[in-house]
Amino acid sequence: MSIELKNISMKFKDTMAVNDLNLTIDSGKLVSLLGPSGCGKSTTLFMLAGLYEPTEGSILFNGKDVTKVVPEKRNIGMVFQNYALYPHMSVLKNIAFPLRMAKVGRKESMERAVQAAKLVEINHLLDRKPGQLSGGQQQRVAIARAIVREPEVLLLDEPLSNLDAKLRLTMREEIREIQQRLKITTLFVTHDQEEALSISDQVVLMKDGHLIQHGDPRDMYDLPNSRFVAEFIGSPTINVVTALNEAEIKELVPHIGAARFHSMAVRPEDMVISSSGLPVRVGLVEKIGKDVLVTVEHTSGQRFKVFVPKHTVFNQDIVHIQARRQDIHLF
Ligand code: ATP
Repeated sequence: MSIELKNISMKFKDTMAVNDLNLTIDSGKLVSLLGPSGCGKSTTLFMLAGLYEPTEGSILFNGKDVTKVVPEKRNIGMVFQNYALYPHMSVLKNIAFPLRMAKVGRKESMERAVQAAKLVEINHLLDRKPGQLSGGQQQRVAIARAIVREPEVLLLDEPLSNLDAKLRLTMREEIREIQQRLKITTLFVTHDQEEALSISDQVVLMKDGHLIQHGDPRDMYDLPNSRFVAEFIGSPTINVVTALNEAEIKELVPHIGAARFHSMAVRPEDMVISSSGLPVRVGLVEKIGKDVLVTVEHTSGQRFKVFVPKHTVFNQDIVHIQARRQDIHLF
């Protein structure tokens, strides 16, 4: 099912939680809503679910206006951050619950619940209560419950934030796999840029209720439309050049040409230590997994983080760094 948000705003008293949002999501895609805390991600999701009615604008599912349609009639499944499982019910009953609410018969409900449980590989846990499950297993129950009615839209609100780092990686792959298998249009709310880039077809970056940039993960990383996007996407954070004068910028970026007076940024992997270039003092050297990240500082106070080859040895305090013109971001 395709989704269209047209000039959507949501105002709570004095707060514009979402401000004139326009967004089209193609059928079967996974789109992440990404942004800092309070930027309006959850509010957007709740409007799609029908839990909030927008103060302005309209929501279309497959071209049909559903702005005023109640949640039960929207054919959506939702997974919340805390899973919201019923603690006194077995796993099977938790998963079957939406079907029972929709007045599907007991036998059929249970059969379909077992099918959904199989899909997320928890069919051996059906008799347990949520309290007897690990975080990852509870997460799967929540997903099974969200998909048991075979919804056309899946809404996930920070579904991985209660899991430890390793399990988060596994579960995000599984969510992507299930999403692709079911070809279900999915919105995934997260504040974790790496998570968003890794599993999405498209990323929507929001700030203060506004949509700042919408694109595929590669473009969000390579072609940020503003300093905000450049600094939000990518880890370690992109280097923003604020302290260098014109001559120093020319040392850093040979052939920079006429664009040099713009606000400028360069990613740590797009810089090299070289025999000529901008002289900098070597500071902290960090081994991050397979990579080595070195922090260097110019006499102006300008700092850079630079990825260097694994076995780099620094024999002197002062080295030179350079970046290529085509790797520089100007805003
Ligand atoms: P987080 O990552 O912290 O969950 P978010 O991006 O999901 O943040 P929202 O929860 O959508 O952000 O909130 C957007 C803004 O709207 C915030 O300023 C928040 O305080 C405000 N807000 C959200 N819900 C309500 C509400 N029910 N009543 C009043 N203000 C609200």
